[in-house]
Amino acid sequence: MTIQIYNTLTRQKEVFKPLEENKVKMYVCGPTVYNYIHIGNARPAIVFDTVRNYFEFRGFEVNFVSNFTDVDDKLIKAANELGVNVPTVAQRFIDAYFEDVTELGCKRADVHPRVTESIEIIIEFIEALIEKGYAYESQGDVYYKTRSFKEYGKLSHQSIDDLRSGARIEVGDKKQDALDFVLWKAAKEGEIYWESPWGKGRPGWHIECSAMARKYLGDTIDIHAGGQDLAFPHHENEIAQSEAFTGQTFANYWMHNGYINIDNEKMSKSLGNYVLVHDIIKKHDPQLIRFFMLSVHYRHPINYSDELLNNTKNGLERLRTTYTNLKHRLESSSNLTNNNEEWLERISGYREDFTRAMDDDFNTANAISVLFELSKQANYYLQEKNTAVQVIKEFLNEFDKLFGVLGISTKDNQLLDEEIEKLIEKRIQARKDRNFALADEIRDALKAKNIILEDTPQGIRWKRG
Ligand SMILES: [Zn+2]
Repeated sequence: MTIQIYNTLTRQKEVFKPLEENKVKMYVCGPTVYNYIHIGNARPAIVFDTVRNYFEFRGFEVNFVSNFTDVDDKLIKAANELGVNVPTVAQRFIDAYFEDVTELGCKRADVHPRVTESIEIIIEFIEALIEKGYAYESQGDVYYKTRSFKEYGKLSHQSIDDLRSGARIEVGDKKQDALDFVLWKAAKEGEIYWESPWGKGRPGWHIECSAMARKYLGDTIDIHAGGQDLAFPHHENEIAQSEAFTGQTFANYWMHNGYINIDNEKMSKSLGNYVLVHDIIKKHDPQLIRFFMLSVHYRHPINYSDELLNNTKNGLERLRTTYTNLKHRLESSSNLTNNNEEWLERISGYREDFTRAMDDDFNTANAISVLFELSKQANYYLQEKNTAVQVIKEFLNEFDKLFGVLGISTKDNQLLDEEIEKLIEKRIQARKDRNFALADEIRDALKAKNIILEDTPQGIRWKRG
């Protein structure tokens, strides 16, 4: 059996052939950390975490890299509004990101590189592009000469002529051609900057991923992934930068997850239907949110509403109940004698169906349907003292390692004592810094975990509620 992946580059499903046997080099574009993540950012986090888990389940060793964009216009704006500097904003929302996605059951990447820690390799990358004739400096900015990359448009399936007809040079533009995009931006008065061969400035957005992917994974990677909205221009530009630089294919497979609509409308700030993960995980079981996301194939759009989320609840509860029943049955009967070959064969049939669904471009929706069927059967097998009970329980354990929704390892969801103490320390520091917003946030986060804080003359005490 082989894994098939829908490749945006070729617009078809292809058999996955890794660069190195049993290894996967995977890069997923991460968030710009100027705010809490919204539910649209949660989808790639959950989807590609599950993809990574599945590769591991199939015996691959995955090297997973996901970046943080920790300096850009939005961060500069947020820093000005909050009256703090850019690194403070970035650190605050990187911490918040980890808290939120951990709640959603996502593991950390092997590396989470940040732009501000990668300036040197970004400058080297840009210098090389200028040297090779793919980029030019203009009044302290550096631009990529889009027209010089002959394959531009291959990922988003557009010809450069189509793009050109829609683009115009504005008066005062520093670029030579409307399609050129910025690699390095000269700093405006009062903005955060780094020294470069072109003066004080900071990187443009696209260059960071080319530079980081190359540093941590090499010239060619197996899978590059992200939300569908990143395919153009971000990923198109990454290809132009990386392939011009190395002369090699940048990524063999390009995966993009679909959009999320809120109550059938596009999520936008102006519509006021922005759903932050930070808020909904206080209202809903985070594992239910994860299950909801995985109950739709990753390439399809998802419509999110509280009602739809609640509708998914019954299905998840059914699976959880099955698991609990199996567990109790096993605990109450020490020796399972009935070895029903036909039943065992049927279960291994479900297992094959499950794997087939996941092998087929990670079709989690179909994989979950198989689980529902199995769950129905399990209730029947429960009546007998049968080894089938044991086999199904083991299967559900494995399933939960991939999907993380059955609440089997609820212990993992609890904060450890040292984590609590760390958070309390952080809150004390935040209050000293007069960062009351952060202090309140930590108090709320602890409260959500049923940790109660008490101010005593000896300092702050805590207990589990
Ligand atoms: Zn990127």
